[in-house]
Amino acid sequence: MTRKRLRDDCFALPPGVDWTPVDEALARLRAALSRVTADEEVPLASAAGRILARPVIAKRDNPPAANAAVDGYAFAWDALCGADEARLPLAEGRAAAGRPFGGTVPAGYALRILTGAEVPAGTDTVVLQEDCEVSGNEVLIAAPRKRGANTRAAGEDAVAGTEALPAGRRIAPQDLARIASVGVGRVAVCARLRVGVLSTGDELIEPGAEGAGIFDANRPMLLAFLAAQGFEAVDLGRAPDRAEEVRAALDRGADEVDAILTTGGASDGDEDHVSKLLRAEGRIETWRIAVKPGRPLALGMWRGVPIFGLPGNPVAAFVCALVFARPALMLMAGAGWVEPEGVMLPAAFEKRKKPGRREYLRARLDPEGRVEVFRSEGSGLIGGLSWATGLCELPDGALEVVPGLPVRFLPFAAFGT
Ligand code: AMP
Ligand code: MG
Repeated sequence: MTRKRLRDDCFALPPGVDWTPVDEALARLRAALSRVTADEEVPLASAAGRILARPVIAKRDNPPAANAAVDGYAFAWDALCGADEARLPLAEGRAAAGRPFGGTVPAGYALRILTGAEVPAGTDTVVLQEDCEVSGNEVLIAAPRKRGANTRAAGEDAVAGTEALPAGRRIAPQDLARIASVGVGRVAVCARLRVGVLSTGDELIEPGAEGAGIFDANRPMLLAFLAAQGFEAVDLGRAPDRAEEVRAALDRGADEVDAILTTGGASDGDEDHVSKLLRAEGRIETWRIAVKPGRPLALGMWRGVPIFGLPGNPVAAFVCALVFARPALMLMAGAGWVEPEGVMLPAAFEKRKKPGRREYLRARLDPEGRVEVFRSEGSGLIGGLSWATGLCELPDGALEVVPGLPVRFLPFAAFGT
């Protein structure tokens, strides 16, 4: 698949749209964007964290043949003739994992079998060795409850020719076991989405640098966030609030990446050079999303590359990256539309919430498993992001939260971070 381009006006809102509810903003992003990455093939060993470009089809059944789930004795269920116990002569030899018995167990005989061994011809059931008594050349079997007991059927986990994992799935460590178990050694994945990060603002200085200024907190955070999503994060540096420098950085980005996250300068003020520049020379749609924290999210196109103009404030930038940029980028990457898995848990706090916008509070679970929120909602308190283990999402409408009321907790892990 070759790289596809997005339409320049893909982010345009219909006329008259003012404050956009979060769900509507997400629905619009979903409709506007599509996969832009090409296919590539990688060996299993380097497939973790990648997105499947095509489904994984089982090359053979798993397990490939019926095998024993326990150490014990294999026999034919019919040999019991419905009795609760039976004394069967032992056939010579045994069956072990990787060393099958080979022949056919004669009717009315039992055979020593070990876990993982193929159930030999002539038998269909295994009895646990603890439920047997061996004396001489015979074994006394306490009948298991049903035919096929203590065996794993061929193909019970996967059937050859069927889908073992779907396209769009981000490959987790446990998926490698799934892929390996069905005999697949190389998988078709989506090329990594390349995403640039640009910080803007005259006040910004490099973390650790001497001098007055605000340390650029967004760039290291967002670069690491993107890497955690499995994207190729590209550092586009810092640009002061000057059109030509922002332009040069966006140009550099457009040559190299599939999408760009900028922070700062995305509102409509005089010093908001990202939105100014996109308005003058690119294409911009400023979405006023009814969300807290987060000011207008600027969505633009620069030479065919989508720009997500996130707020400068690091708390707002992080929340907007999780809630809006992540699903949009995942869609572009080939993962389809992803939604974080939240859980409803009792609140450990009180809050009277006004209607009109959705709120995301920095939250974590207290020892009783209730949702507690950070001491202040001040979006300047970056430390609250480290205190928290997730976000508490309060719905768009008015709400009076009292202790014990179920609220939605979205662990950071649900955003892949
Ligand atoms: P802006 O969106 O440019 O108006 O910035 C909003 C606030 O976020 C201002 O107080 C900025 O100083 C601050 N800010 C912007 N970018 C960053 C950054 N990269 N790191 C830390 N703070 C920032
Ligand atoms: Mg600024």
